[in-house]
Amino acid sequence: MYSIGGSPSCCDSAAAQNDRECSAGKNFVKLETVRHVWYSKSCFQLKIGSQSHAGTFVTDFSSQNFNMHISYHTFDLQLRDPFTIARGTVTCQPTVIVRVEHDGLIGLGEATTNPYYGVTLAKLTSALDQVAPKLRNYRLENPAELWKELDSDLSDCRFAQCALDCAIWDIYAQQQGMPLWKLWGLRDDDPRPPSCYTLGIDTDEVMLRKMQAQPEWPVFKIKVDAGGGVPLVQTLRRSTSAKFRVDANCSWKADQVQQFSAHLAELDVELVEQPLPADELAAMRQLKGRCAIPLMADESCLIEEDVDRCVDAFDAINIKLVKCGGLTPARRMIARATQRGLKVMVGCMTESSVGISAGVHLLPLLDYADLDGALLLADDIASGLNWDRGHCQLPTQPGLGVRLKEPIVDA
Ligand SMILES: [Mg+2]
Repeated sequence: MYSIGGSPSCCDSAAAQNDRECSAGKNFVKLETVRHVWYSKSCFQLKIGSQSHAGTFVTDFSSQNFNMHISYHTFDLQLRDPFTIARGTVTCQPTVIVRVEHDGLIGLGEATTNPYYGVTLAKLTSALDQVAPKLRNYRLENPAELWKELDSDLSDCRFAQCALDCAIWDIYAQQQGMPLWKLWGLRDDDPRPPSCYTLGIDTDEVMLRKMQAQPEWPVFKIKVDAGGGVPLVQTLRRSTSAKFRVDANCSWKADQVQQFSAHLAELDVELVEQPLPADELAAMRQLKGRCAIPLMADESCLIEEDVDRCVDAFDAINIKLVKCGGLTPARRMIARATQRGLKVMVGCMTESSVGISAGVHLLPLLDYADLDGALLLADDIASGLNWDRGHCQLPTQPGLGVRLKEPIVDA
C-alpha cells in the first residue's frame, strides 16, 4: 500500500531572494519567481510498505487557465535479486516518474539514475525544474516539435529528456484516442521480436538456476565479464536450446574478441554486445566482419549522431530511450540505422513498466528487443503490460497504456 505523510524530506536549497515560503498542512511549499512565472514546488514523502520515498511536485499556478504542467516523483525500485554486470552490482534502482497533465489527460514517462552515464536524481530533477515553467500554457500539437524546442535545455541530461518526451507522446496519443503504435501506423500483426531475459553475473550454478526458472523463454541475454564467459555458456547451453546473446559491457580486450566470439558461435550465441570500451571504435573497425558472430554497440551508441559512427564498427546497435533522449530521437535512429544496414535492438535499464512501455510500442520496428527491466524488479510500481514469456502484447489503451498501480496524491 502507498501512503503519504511524515515530514518533508527535500527542498530546493537555491532559493531566489524573492522567494516566499509557507507551510500547507504537512507539506512544505515554496513559491519562486522564475522568469515572472509563479509556480510551486511541494515536497512529499511516500511510503510503500516499509520503504520511504522522497519526491517533489512542481505545479504551475501562474494562470487559472494553464494548459500543461509537469510533476515528478522519485522511487527506489528494489530488484528481485542483486543484478551484476562487468562493472558493478545493483540491488536498488532509483528512478523518476514524470507526470504531465494537459487538457485533462495524464501522460507518464520515466528515467532511472545511472552512475556510468553520470545521471543522478539531482541532475534529473534539476533538468526537469529548468523546463517546467516553459511548458506553461504550451499547446501540444507535435511532440517532435516540442522535443526540438526543449533540446537546448535538456541535451545535457538525455535521461530527463526521455522521461518528458515519453510522457508527451503518451498524452498526444491519448488525444488522438489510440495506442501509440497505432498512431505511428504500425500494425498489431506486424512481426515483433521477443524480448530477451537477462541473466546477471553470478556463479554458473546460480545463473543456470535463474535461467531454468524462466522455462520456455525464447532468448536469454547472458552478462559476462573479462573472462569471456565461454565455460558458463557451455553450462547453460546443455540445459536449453533457447537463443543466447552475450553482453560484455566493455570488459574485453581487442585481442580477445575474435577468440571469444569463435567459441561462443559454436555454442549458438547469436550476437555479442559491446565487447570493448565505448570509445574504442578504431579497434572495433578492425574487428567488424572478422568475427564469427555479429557485434552490437550499446555503450558506443548513445545519441543520433552515433548511428553513423557505428556503421563501420558494428553490425547492430542497442538503442536505449534514456541514452538518446526519448521516443522522438529513437524513431529517427531506427530509421537511420536500418537505412545504413545496421540491425536494431531497443534495450532498457531496470525501469518500471512506465519506462518499458515506451519501448514496447517500438517493437514492430525492431530486429531485437531487450525490454525485461520491469520483470527484474521485486515490485513493479506500474501495470498495463501483458507478457507471455518473451512476448509482450501491444497495449490497446490510448497512449502508452500504462498507469501507476497506486495514484500519487499530494497530501
Ligand atoms: Mg548492454
